[in-house]
Amino acid sequence: MICVEFKKAWNDTSVENCDVCGNLLINRYWEFTHTDGRTYRACRQDDEELLRWLDEQRQRPGYADFLSLS
Ligand SMILES: [Zn+2]
Repeated sequence: MICVEFKKAWNDTSVENCDVCGNLLINRYWEFTHTDGRTYRACRQDDEELLRWLDEQRQRPGYADFLSLS
């Protein structure tokens, strides 16, 4: 996992969000490649662990039922 600084112009008003939890990314982000081969940008180092935990929940029986209820 590496820490990456945004290199934006002062008048660049685009906003970036954390790929894991959706938080706003300000100044820098953590970049890592997940087990699905995708590269994620996260607001904090703990998000890599969170994403792994979420994957485990998705594989549990009943997860799809939970989604259809909400
Ligand atoms: Zn995050």
